[in-house]
Amino acid sequence: MTELDQSLLDAGERLFERRWQLLKSVPALEFLPPADRPEIAFAGRSNVGKSSLINALVRQNGLCRTSNTPGRTQELNYFESPGDPLFIVDMPGYGYAKAPVEKVAAWGALVTDYLRGRTTLARVFLLIDARHGIKPTDEQIAEILDDAAVTYQVALTKIDKINETDLAKVREATERKIAKHPAAFPVVIETSAEKNIGVTELRATIAGIVADRA
Ligand code: GDP
Repeated sequence: MTELDQSLLDAGERLFERRWQLLKSVPALEFLPPADRPEIAFAGRSNVGKSSLINALVRQNGLCRTSNTPGRTQELNYFESPGDPLFIVDMPGYGYAKAPVEKVAAWGALVTDYLRGRTTLARVFLLIDARHGIKPTDEQIAEILDDAAVTYQVALTKIDKINETDLAKVREATERKIAKHPAAFPVVIETSAEKNIGVTELRATIAGIVADRA
């Protein structure tokens, strides 16, 4: 990844040093909290490690419930840290139960409307399991994000599960694929929630986004 300067790394640590909490679960757009601050959303296939990464980000194991019963929720979960100018949004996982590609459409009108209409949505982190790389289902989600013109950035998850050679391959393939997507941010972040790799960089990246929006 590109160099992140020390001031951003520090700002990232500050952003996540206080306690984060669930503000609300949003089952329909009418229940969205006021659009009064930037927000960052996390999307990914069920089981990609989304809850684990959000928990690592905020250093709170219990904030986001990790679960092996994917697809259970179709809600947008809003997290806040009182005093911090940011919402973190956990989007529903997609692509569970080996659903056929067409079923991605069912990822939800809620999510599509949210992506199109939420002007304070500053970036979506699209999580991709480093063992699998970008799958057709992820490509479909990337297209929904392109259509909504929301900037999104790929974060590889669970990189502790593969070796350096395979990581280099998946990095190269991922960069090649996202280069074709107009709304994709060209820097791929590599993370492991388990080994706490890339989490500092993720915090700093988010701090940079917040600073840009201020
Ligand atoms: P979600 O469905 O996307 O929220 O995924 P979870 O965070 O619940 O994680 C799914 C499974 O992957 C769980 O068994 C986690 O323990 C495991 N997992 C998540 N992140 C990592 C990681 O960085 N490394 C490893 N080895 N396992 C992980």
